[in-house]
Amino acid sequence: MKTCDLPAYAIADLVRTRQISAVEVLEDALERIRRVDGRLGEVDAPRAESEEDLSSVHAFTQVTEDYAREQAQKIDQLVKDGENPGPLAGVPYTAKDIFTVKGVRTTAGSKILSNYIAPYSATVVERMEAAGAVMLGKVNLDEFTYGSSSESSTYKPVPRNPWDTSRVVGGSSGGSAAAVAAGEGAISLGTDTGGSIRHPAAFCGTVGLKPTYGRVSRYGLIAFGSSLDCPGPLTRNVTDAAITLQAIAGHDARDATSAAVPVPDYLAEMEKEVRGLRIGLSEEFFRVTYFDAESMELVENPIDDQIREAVLSVAGFLAQLGADIVTDVPMPHTKYGVPTYFVISRVEASSNLLRFDGVKYGYRTSQSFKDLPELYRKTRGEGFGVEPKLRMLMGIYLSAAQFDKGYYQRALKARALIRQDFETVFDPRGKYRLDALLTPTAPSTAFPIGSVYGDSVLMQYSDQLTATTNHAGIPGLSFPVGFDRDNLPIGAQVLGPDYSEGRLLGIARAYEEVTEEKAWRNLKPPLVAALDS
Ligand code: GLN
Repeated sequence: MKTCDLPAYAIADLVRTRQISAVEVLEDALERIRRVDGRLGEVDAPRAESEEDLSSVHAFTQVTEDYAREQAQKIDQLVKDGENPGPLAGVPYTAKDIFTVKGVRTTAGSKILSNYIAPYSATVVERMEAAGAVMLGKVNLDEFTYGSSSESSTYKPVPRNPWDTSRVVGGSSGGSAAAVAAGEGAISLGTDTGGSIRHPAAFCGTVGLKPTYGRVSRYGLIAFGSSLDCPGPLTRNVTDAAITLQAIAGHDARDATSAAVPVPDYLAEMEKEVRGLRIGLSEEFFRVTYFDAESMELVENPIDDQIREAVLSVAGFLAQLGADIVTDVPMPHTKYGVPTYFVISRVEASSNLLRFDGVKYGYRTSQSFKDLPELYRKTRGEGFGVEPKLRMLMGIYLSAAQFDKGYYQRALKARALIRQDFETVFDPRGKYRLDALLTPTAPSTAFPIGSVYGDSVLMQYSDQLTATTNHAGIPGLSFPVGFDRDNLPIGAQVLGPDYSEGRLLGIARAYEEVTEEKAWRNLKPPLVAALDS
């Protein structure tokens, strides 16, 4: 039996009960990688061109085979010794190449970290290992997680969507979503600053969970926007997301913003029924509003009809299960999510990127330099790609003393108003008393590779439906809800108040269960289906 397409919980069960060894599971996964992934992403390598390149996933920047084998053998030994190997015993997973793993190269998809071997592991990686999971390797991402298509990585070829390899995987945790969708590991760890877990999850037809800010430790995560970043899981089903969250959530003394809030039993929470829950729909999440630089006007565009219908059909199923669907919920500041994000995330990014200077670690220019500033200039000029440079320039400009009140302070005010929108509708004594909001995850399905990349403003608008979650610090869960006419996955998300992950998992699980028999649930990405036939 091949284990690549099994849920994580099923694999762990087989390993724990000695029906299969962790090493055998690992061999299955490595074989799947060999068959579908193609050329590994490498710094400044040629783009995809050959027939084989164009039809492969390219999720990985690195396969850590020896590391994985050591972990798998350890799990098998524990099982043999009659000890508890953990809830994710022998489950193969991948980590977005933004998490440090001790002794393993950690690049952030950037040349400036292309030679960086991390001296310590991220807390989430340690916790995955403690739960018995086996890391297959590092997966590709937008450079420093800046993007919504994973095309900005310096590591080429960039990932391609397993459902249609001419399409992007979304981003920035695109390698994570692609790997999970293609059965290269049952779980991937991603990060979400403005949508980077949920967006690629929607594009690749996986589940993706952005936890409440502080719920999961950021220690060992290369920082983008420190007030927005959240690590979380991407999986093929809701139960696996619950089990993974259980493994990685909880206070960490090494992250000062980590929350000391007790961690509930997520599986138990997930099993609670949706009957009686108040679930809201807001028109503000069914359109994208952006500033058109040519006409100098605000332009409003409805999202794709097929996505709208798919999300409304989820509401229909939830209503059948006894949930109260509340329509016309006002979320008036949703349209400011991206402009606000533009300012706050760029300011935080430019500050976080200052540490890469060619002195302490990472890439250093091989040219001669006469003083320290020149070393910095040459190293940073050569080491950073276009997107980080753009964001640094923007961040430095926006935070300049003379603009302080005009941009950053205003963005912080807008951020507070965005948070207030959510507080108002989730207020248990308020007019709406919602338990969750149901919205589309992204305004479109996966777009063709090369069609948006290069227009960094348009790319950013891919996040309009996700970024407000990060501003507010609340949790959001994206889950697959069907396919469009081009056979591309559609994602919906549920958003809830702080620490309501259990409830969000419950809503998504209820929907998953009631649609279990639907034909679309059995579809596999063509390149995976081709392996079976
Ligand atoms: N697409 C967003 C950006 O470009 C989100 C990135 C993220 O969440 N890390 O900033």
